[in-house]
Amino acid sequence: MAVPKRKVSKAKRDSRRANTWKASVPGMSECPQCHELKLSHRVCKNCGYYDGKKIIEVEKSAQEAKAAAKEEKKASKAAAKDAKTIEKETKKAAKKAAEEVVEETVEEVAEEAEAKADEVEEKVEEAAE
Ligand SMILES: [Zn+2]
Repeated sequence: MAVPKRKVSKAKRDSRRANTWKASVPGMSECPQCHELKLSHRVCKNCGYYDGKKIIEVEKSAQEAKAAAKEEKKASKAAAKDAKTIEKETKKAAKKAAEEVVEETVEEVAEEAEAKADEVEEKVEEAAE
């Protein structure tokens, strides 16, 4: 009986497996008509074509369902985007409002300070007299 001369190292074993044991879907190939994966040597389930000819009429409901699902996905994505933009705008508006309030408060404080300064000036003048 043939016996291996040496133990196969882990590195050698792993590199062998990495190169030759690539996973592939057995018996599947791309449909030239619709580019879906289909069983080779069989009519495409998606479009009903084989060898460039239409062999069977495919129920459109499956295709339509797929398209509808895609559109729904798109719509939900768009809705999510809208929600994000709305959130952003709300945040921006809130920031603006806060800044305005701060400005108003600053103006009020400045006016009060001016008024007080005037009062103090008047008092100083009175005291001087
Ligand atoms: Zn096809």
